[in-house]
Amino acid sequence: MHCHKCGVKLLDTAVYCHSCGEPVADAYRTIFSPAPQPKTSYKYLAVIGGIIGAILVAVTFGAADYYYQSKDTKQEQAAIRIR
Ligand SMILES: [Zn+2]
Repeated sequence: MHCHKCGVKLLDTAVYCHSCGEPVADAYRTIFSPAPQPKTSYKYLAVIGGIIGAILVAVTFGAADYYYQSKDTKQEQAAIRIR
C-alpha cells in the first residue's frame, strides 16, 4: 500500500500517511462512508415521506374538524353568557 498523495510506502494498517499526513484511501473510505446504500436510503425517504404526508392529511382534516367543533362551542358559550 502506498500513499495516494505522496507515494510513500505505508503499512497496511496505517490510517494516516506518516510522511505527509494524508488519510490513507482505504481508511478514509471506512471512516467517511461506512456503508453506502443509496437504494436503501431512498426507500427510507419514501417511507418517511409517506408518513409525513399521512400526518399532514390527518392534521388538515383534524384541524378543520376542530375548527368547526370549537366554533360550535364558542357559540354555545356565547349563548350561555347571554342568559
Ligand atoms: Zn503521503
